Amino acid sequence: MHTGKGDAAKRAKTRRRIPVAIDASDISCGFEVGNDFERFSQIDDVFARSRYDPVVHSERSELFFSTYRKPLTEWRAAKGFQQNDYAFRNATWHVADVFAEMHESRDRRDGFLDPLSMLRDGASEQVDLGTPTAAAAMIKHAARTAGADLVGVTAYDHRWTYTERFSVKASGAKPNDLPDGLNHVIVIGQAMDATLIETSPSALSGAATGMGYSQDAVVLLTIAQYLRNLGYQAVPSMNDTALAVPYAIQAGLGEYGKHGLVITPEFGTSVRFGKIFTDAPLAHDRPISFGVKEMCEICSACVTGCPSKAIPDGAPTAERHNRSNLQGVTKWSIDGEKCFSYWTKINNDCSICVRVCPFTRDYTSAKNRLWLRLAGSPLRRLALWLDRREGRGARRQAATWWPSPSE
Ligand code: SF4
Ligand code: SF4
Repeated sequence: MHTGKGDAAKRAKTRRRIPVAIDASDISCGFEVGNDFERFSQIDDVFARSRYDPVVHSERSELFFSTYRKPLTEWRAAKGFQQNDYAFRNATWHVADVFAEMHESRDRRDGFLDPLSMLRDGASEQVDLGTPTAAAAMIKHAARTAGADLVGVTAYDHRWTYTERFSVKASGAKPNDLPDGLNHVIVIGQAMDATLIETSPSALSGAATGMGYSQDAVVLLTIAQYLRNLGYQAVPSMNDTALAVPYAIQAGLGEYGKHGLVITPEFGTSVRFGKIFTDAPLAHDRPISFGVKEMCEICSACVTGCPSKAIPDGAPTAERHNRSNLQGVTKWSIDGEKCFSYWTKINNDCSICVRVCPFTRDYTSAKNRLWLRLAGSPLRRLALWLDRREGRGARRQAATWWPSPSE
């Protein structure tokens, strides 16, 4: 049964507070979980709040969401925000939207508030997958073949599971039911198109986000169905059910950055993450370190680049900007209210912090791989200086992304 916000707040008080020991492996992941830690409720997520909380909800936020549904309107008289840009952006969201809207009459938004559910029954008996190491290698191989750019595996960690999901119908909380025994989490990374991100902020850059979600949905459903066909449980999840960032870090896919995002050695910050909860016995990966924390200590490109001043500079802190931040975790945190407010001003999601981060570069280039080694060495200041000198991260005019009429 769905409950309203008042009930949710009471239940949250009783269910969120769990004593936790400080875990050294968390510190190596870039966050330190304190004894006052409380699990996060999805009703506090800034996107959920944009539906009911007057602090976040406004005419502008209504307009922001409506731009994803009205392809014949030109929403801003600015280059990169014209009808063709919105038409493409909205098309890239189409696959993710189909799954999200499929069961709206049942108060589900698959992939955003609820797990992806378009799955068939699997085998009634479990196939022996061999050793956990062999099983993990097999799943990763299948995932990459299905389109995943990055794959890692880690242990289920109850701390990152939402205390409740957000219910659109109730404009409040509903239970977050996850079957017992799903002790392993496969984390999938989808690289976002670098040339689109270069145009941020523009409606065109939102196409990188839309494609990330749509491709993520396809890969997550494919691998979840594969696991079910082998006789195992699998729950594919995008933004729903649990926080993705700590899982991506624990699964060894990247390090935590000052802009609150994961930075990977393959694509920098330009990645989206999904996850699959499963009972298939898989070997786990370990967190990695390649100099991100040390670079963030001397860099502030995202801080100065952020138009809404949502990214503070300075050391990690447990201070919360507002209720959309995690309670009881010492880390770098952004102000989601300020960030979302900017999105509603430009009628598009913003990826400026992704674009300006020096780690966001094309690592198929030997020069950039060399830069990454320099960035992870004591010569990181030189790496930062080189990044600024070469002008990487400058905004590309969206009009230059489309072929010119003569091409
Ligand atoms: S997405 Fe844009 S507004 Fe939000 S934190 Fe990043 S740079 Fe700032
Ligand atoms: S822009 Fe600089 S400070 Fe911000 S996340 Fe990237 S490396 Fe860290």
